[in-house]
Amino acid sequence: MTVNFEALRAANIARQQEWPGNDKADAAFRALEVADEVGEVMGAVKKWLRAQRDIAGTTLTLDDVADEIGDALISLDLFVNELGLGRITPLHLSLSRQFPTPAKLALEAFADAGELVDAYLALDAAPSDRTKQHHHDRIRDAVTGLAYCIGRLAKLFGIDPNAAVVAKFNKTSEKYEMATRMDVQACNFRTKHVYDACTTCGVDDVKDCMTETPAALKGETNGETCDP
Ligand SMILES: [Mg+2]
Repeated sequence: MTVNFEALRAANIARQQEWPGNDKADAAFRALEVADEVGEVMGAVKKWLRAQRDIAGTTLTLDDVADEIGDALISLDLFVNELGLGRITPLHLSLSRQFPTPAKLALEAFADAGELVDAYLALDAAPSDRTKQHHHDRIRDAVTGLAYCIGRLAKLFGIDPNAAVVAKFNKTSEKYEMATRMDVQACNFRTKHVYDACTTCGVDDVKDCMTETPAALKGETNGETCDP
């Protein structure tokens, strides 16, 4: 369950060549885009939680969360590409023994996005090459942390992050009539929500967007609780 960042980079570069106005999207714009999309992940998780807890207000489904996870990773790659930082390190995700809540994992991602923006601003104002290198390194760390947090958030929800990226990339291409598409063969499946293994929180199985839960995922959550 890893994101194919190589395929994403190639697709992003191809689509940006056909995206009107792309030449005016500088690094500051790309940083704003990441902040915006990570914020949209926060909003989607919040609205999903409303639905789970019967809190009044607008609600969203896991499909919406997956959409925003896809957007966040796509925009992160665009930012990294704009800064010439190479590719994002492939994610090797595992759920830790501590089973975090969606809200806490989302907030961790938000904190990493804040660090990324702070480091970008510091880089932009850096007076020397040595200082620039320091802030480049900070940005690399924040990018890795952010991608990891979003990947773990996806996994917690039983969403394949690569599938989310491919699906959202192609949905956006279709919406704006762009020819570039990602290969859907890279899109595996969207797995079942893992909270159905939670023994104490009472969160119900989520029935949207589900196929089969892989045995490995079921095993990882046996006996775990999500500490709501
Ligand atoms: Mg979005």
